Amino acid sequence: MPRPLIAPLLPFLLPLVLGLPAPAWAQPDGPAAAGHAPVQGSRALQQACQERLAPSSLVFEVQTSEVVIGQQLGLGELRGLMAVSPQDAVFGATEFTPQVQVEWSARAVTENATGMNCARISATIHLGIAPQTVHIAREIPLGSCPYQVVLDHEMGHVRINNAHMEQVAAMLNEQARAEFPARAWVGSAEEIKAAIRDELTGVWIPRVEVLLAAAGDLHAQHDAADRELDGLAECLDKKPALTAQKD
Ligand SMILES: [Zn+2]
Repeated sequence: MPRPLIAPLLPFLLPLVLGLPAPAWAQPDGPAAAGHAPVQGSRALQQACQERLAPSSLVFEVQTSEVVIGQQLGLGELRGLMAVSPQDAVFGATEFTPQVQVEWSARAVTENATGMNCARISATIHLGIAPQTVHIAREIPLGSCPYQVVLDHEMGHVRINNAHMEQVAAMLNEQARAEFPARAWVGSAEEIKAAIRDELTGVWIPRVEVLLAAAGDLHAQHDAADRELDGLAECLDKKPALTAQKD
């Protein structure tokens, strides 16, 4: 008898949906350095930055993910989707793709003498999974004993994803609170935009990816610990042929 295998789909590629709107630059603050034309332009500018602009902020927010339960795929298609050997039966799978969206806006002071800007930003990185799709093999009759066993197991993967996403956001918010408030960027408007974009996509998004990847272990633990195989065996004892019954 084929060994049932119920596992999540874990896409290793993390598609990023990056929305980086052009920051709404604050109007130049007038003659910021009037009266003490800066010899050390950047130092005076950074001082003005600290005194006039609110601290930078970076916040991670979790977007609620929709859960779609479907039976469009059959046992063979699920086996192909999971890339397992023909001896394995795949009764269910949970498919999910993490999404990351970045929004930020900047406020700046401009030094008249040099035309240089100093900017601080407010950024939000939205973390989400849209949607999570629970596949249950279409040969399993809706509402049957195996259907419920497989559904319960797959919903465990959904709960793991949701809880893990909250933990990832909490960890990153802690890091951001420690590192971000004092941050300021100095340069031309274009240089600042490029530097902020590099920081958000080159530093913080990779941190998101590393932390999200840890969910793989949680799913493996769920698969090892969950008793769905016992439950399925009981169902199969009662109804040997999954395809024999229709509601
Ligand atoms: Zn599983």
